[in-house]
Amino acid sequence: MTETIDDALLQADGIESGYGKVQVLWGAGLAVRPGESVVLLGANGAGKTTLLKVLVGLIPAWRGAVRLGGTDITALRTDRRVRLGLAYMSELGVFPGLTIEENLRIGGQFAERAVLRARIEELFAVFPDLAGRKRALAGALSGGQRKMLGIAKALAAGPKLLVMDEPSAGLSPLFVQQVISVLGRFRAGGVGGGAGLAMLIAEQNVAFLDLADRVYTLEGGRIRFEGTVAQLHADDALHRAYFGLA
Ligand code: ATP
Repeated sequence: MTETIDDALLQADGIESGYGKVQVLWGAGLAVRPGESVVLLGANGAGKTTLLKVLVGLIPAWRGAVRLGGTDITALRTDRRVRLGLAYMSELGVFPGLTIEENLRIGGQFAERAVLRARIEELFAVFPDLAGRKRALAGALSGGQRKMLGIAKALAAGPKLLVMDEPSAGLSPLFVQQVISVLGRFRAGGVGGGAGLAMLIAEQNVAFLDLADRVYTLEGGRIRFEGTVAQLHADDALHRAYFGLA
């Protein structure tokens, strides 16, 4: 049973879901507070993508509930959830056949025109590599730049919570570090100001724990551990599972 957090921005409880007759999630739940960075750690096939898709409404929950800012969003369409402040970056993250600027406009499609224009300028200031190539096709970017564009595209929506599926996917270790460092700038009131962006990052790469205020581990569609990074290290079995014998 996942702990209910009173001041949670996002709270999911007892989620069961899957594909056709194949059940993947067995009562999984998690919570993210406003401005908090949470890492959902799990091996290949643990069900991370499936859980994120339920949270953002891309596949239905068979059982359980998802709440955003106290509102039950379990049955809401994805676009409604986006308007309420959820943004989702899938493993692919961008539309390769569109330009950088077009990708950002699609990311912010529900924002007012003037707000979006100002936001895109802010994002270009944070991502100068993208600013210099506004009219380049996203498909022409390197893997690392494409990931940066994926992050910028999700942020163009001005979300309260950025949900990311394996931002490290397909990246070399150097680019992984760059992505971590960019996300670190957005963490809790960094770039973009305001109350601070909350992040939920599904990963198998433990390097992302550098960003984590709290961690959940997912195994076989169930949450096995919930706590701080220090508590994860303190658990011998989990430490061995995720960090090896070192
Ligand atoms: P990965 O790192 O590989 O993305 P994950 O933790 O995100 O792993 P999921 O993608 O959620 O895991 O997959 C969980 C289980 O659901 C796996 O056994 C996978 O084979 C299965 N699965 C995923 N997508 C589908 C689908 N479209 N149809 C049927 N089974 C699926």
